[in-house]
Amino acid sequence: MSSKLKIFNTLTKQKEDFEPLNPPFVGMYICGPTVYGDPHLGHARPAITYDLLFRYLKHLGYKVRYVRNITDVGHLENDADEGEDKISQKARIEQLEPMEVVQYYTDRYHKFMDELNVSPPSIEPRASGHIIEQLELIDEIMNNGYAYQSNGSVYFDVEKYNKTHQYGILSGRTVEEQLSTTRKLEGQLEKRNSFDFALWKKANPSHIMRWRSQYGEGFPGWHLECTAMSAKYLGNFFDIHGGGMDLLFPHHECEIMQATVVHGQNPVRYWMHNNMITISGQKMGKSLGNFITLEEFFTGKHKLLEKAFSPMTIRFFILQAHYRSTIDFSSEALMSAEKGFQRLMEGLENIDKIKSGTTSGFDIKSFKNKCYDALNDDLNSSILIAHLFDAIKAINLALTETISMTETDIEELSQLMHLFIEDILGLVSDKQSSDIQIIEKLINLILEIRQEAKNKKEWATSDLIRDKLNETGIIIKDGKDGSTWGFI
Ligand code: ZN
Repeated sequence: MSSKLKIFNTLTKQKEDFEPLNPPFVGMYICGPTVYGDPHLGHARPAITYDLLFRYLKHLGYKVRYVRNITDVGHLENDADEGEDKISQKARIEQLEPMEVVQYYTDRYHKFMDELNVSPPSIEPRASGHIIEQLELIDEIMNNGYAYQSNGSVYFDVEKYNKTHQYGILSGRTVEEQLSTTRKLEGQLEKRNSFDFALWKKANPSHIMRWRSQYGEGFPGWHLECTAMSAKYLGNFFDIHGGGMDLLFPHHECEIMQATVVHGQNPVRYWMHNNMITISGQKMGKSLGNFITLEEFFTGKHKLLEKAFSPMTIRFFILQAHYRSTIDFSSEALMSAEKGFQRLMEGLENIDKIKSGTTSGFDIKSFKNKCYDALNDDLNSSILIAHLFDAIKAINLALTETISMTETDIEELSQLMHLFIEDILGLVSDKQSSDIQIIEKLINLILEIRQEAKNKKEWATSDLIRDKLNETGIIIKDGKDGSTWGFI
């Protein structure tokens, strides 16, 4: 490998050499989903981006502790600490216990992440399971003088922070800017300034999720959860904290402020943010009618989709762009991603069919270096995929014996292609299609056994197999050249 891994740090706005604080260990915290709705394309991008990072760091030999939380309380309808808790609201509308909502959507999230071949994190803490840690943090912030109580809620004092620390180190925003852009709303009367944010919110009588505390009955603020859970599992200063660009402000900026007043410093060495997905140039949103869930992608049941797309097509589509660029979704873009993914998988299968020659027509060493260089350059999966397609071209030329590859070349190329495509990019043959392949093999096996029975003139057995297959929805047609089958 000729280069070293560099990561773009949102904090310093530059690519930096990746040097873990305590090698070979790497601590990585990624903001997970708020589980109140079905997983959609917006959930897939951060999950796949940080899965690529997780896989690559492990490949480089690091021992990674990957923490990705589940937000199951405290995420309100908007960033100004107003409105209902998203989970509480769903529970009220559907007449469910909030934890039923949480369980249902957490299970759905896991199911779809599994289909997208996203590896599970090392720890998946839930915010509601860490109320004690969050209350302890509030006590410390209060003791250090950076929070105040108001009407049963506790708010972080941003103005005071701004006097003693540098505000906006991640987003570049200023307090003055915030003052002029935040709306004065009724609920904000209890705040000293509109830019202050809630550490603890008083639960009104109709609020279902509530805990007792010395500040009154209430629930924790969303930003506090990640500070409490990351410190608990990764320590007060850890390597990587990531999430979508939409979390940079206010969520991550608030995390920095909370941790700074308690632990004395910004808690993270490398801040990472993936860019967003747009749909035909527009932001995704329920009100815009362009909000597509992963289930709708996998079944094709959405008016913007011409057909169903497999989880691996979605994964490939996302990885085809570098994580810091925007991706614009359209049905056409997905169709071409589908073709690209198939070409990659065919190429992978074709390696085994190449007849070895005596000369080397493909520079494997240079190919290998280029692949590593792409990944080391801030995880540039887009460039990596371009190099993989160059190798596919060479494989196809070697298949037709237009170029020659030695046996060692073929072996090494095969290993590298499997490494980059399957292990690191996590692109594998679609599970669905491999399931169908297994079913086909099984039915063909049953038909062979039936043919054996027919050869021995065991007609009762042969008829029984036919009838039983028929009952499960498979029809057998006997012809001169043997039997064929199909679904009824
Ligand atoms: Zn978070």
